[in-house]
Amino acid sequence: MLHSCYGINEKGHFTIGGVDTTVLANKYKTPLFVLDEQKIRENCRAYTSAMNKYFVDGSTIHYASKALSFKGIYKIMSEEGVNVDLCSLGEVYTAKSAGFDLSRACLHGNNKTDDNIREAIRAGVGEFVVDSFEELEALEIIAGEENVVQKAFVRITPNIDCHTLKAISTGQLDSKFGTPIETGQAEKLVRRALELKNVKLIGYHCHCGSQVFETQPYVNQTEIMFAFAADIMKKTGYAPEYMNLGGGFGVRYTENDPQIDIGENIRLIAEKEKEICKKYNLPEPKILMEPGRSIVANAGITLYTVGTVKHIEGYRTYVSINGGMTDNPRYALYGSKYEALLANKASLPKDTSVTIAGCCCESGDLIGENIKLQKAERGDLLAVTVTGAYNYSMSSNYNRVPRPALVIVNNGKDRLAIRRESYEDICRNDI
Ligand SMILES: *Cc1c(COP(=O)(O)O)cnc(C)c1O
Repeated sequence: MLHSCYGINEKGHFTIGGVDTTVLANKYKTPLFVLDEQKIRENCRAYTSAMNKYFVDGSTIHYASKALSFKGIYKIMSEEGVNVDLCSLGEVYTAKSAGFDLSRACLHGNNKTDDNIREAIRAGVGEFVVDSFEELEALEIIAGEENVVQKAFVRITPNIDCHTLKAISTGQLDSKFGTPIETGQAEKLVRRALELKNVKLIGYHCHCGSQVFETQPYVNQTEIMFAFAADIMKKTGYAPEYMNLGGGFGVRYTENDPQIDIGENIRLIAEKEKEICKKYNLPEPKILMEPGRSIVANAGITLYTVGTVKHIEGYRTYVSINGGMTDNPRYALYGSKYEALLANKASLPKDTSVTIAGCCCESGDLIGENIKLQKAERGDLLAVTVTGAYNYSMSSNYNRVPRPALVIVNNGKDRLAIRRESYEDICRNDI
């Protein structure tokens, strides 16, 4: 099994967090997302314990909640003492509704409107990540009108390549995110931030991309960011309280992906960070990281019911399921790879190779091709693993398909965390 929360019980059924998935499917119906709470907590602690150990006091993580945002996840983060990243007013609203202390939240986004800025300030969002010069000026004016001094990072693009997919690369100079160093714009942005009355600059932010398996991109990024910080310190005397290194540790989706040891990765990054700080004669800032995927991805699975199994002689076998791109658009978007199994036949050999097809009117609606699977028949329960991140959060109602329910398992118990959408829900806003 790919991750420690997955197993097979004595009946030969697939389990998550020790709970039989066929029982969950009978109780809650399919398609269904299932999350193992213990795995999420374990992932959080892998980060927090390593960061406490290797970085200066006050260093911590912000869970990038775009990976999976619903009320229950903010409660878990709150209990773990983890801060959160929000990237829209919808996420701000969800976190607030869950009772999350928004002073521990950070707002991202390359296009925060004036209304967004005002609402986020009024909601009490602790920190902004200012993406551009224009946003900085808007924040100064609106924070002034609201009578607050808003804490903010500025997002800097270090111009590095982190060897991931183009669609999820964000650290290169030509990006919709951040302000580049090389053009001199980052320095101007910082100098301007330091002049402002209603914005308090607390540090620098960068984020090179997602699904990154090596530590070298983080080391390169740290080198560039600290060189930038040292240059600014020489010119203005300003030294950042925080350095935010962004998110992006890769996750093992298939057997071909490596398993990342989060603690060991952080140790390696910290070792280099200390060297680099010394080299540039900078006081060591508090370090922030923003993991999303690596907190929730492996804690989640999706359960579907197999429908039509169509064999096209000489070509391939399509195994169709009662979900697809509406609950998991990642194959259609990026060609992302997944593994699957028949949860009710988990102990049988995976002796067929199939294409798993969704039920939308779209040929590209696939979960994957050349997927190894036990011999599938109509009525089988199909599990796709490692779907905790960027699945539910990217889901849609295309073809007016209702979003699935989401269930959390914890120490052998299960509880409904997001209700299944009804057809009424889908028509709710139609007039
Ligand atoms: C998406 C994103 C993250 C999280 O990336 P993961 O790959 O999910 O860890 C962190 N920071 C920023 C700014 C992001 O845009």
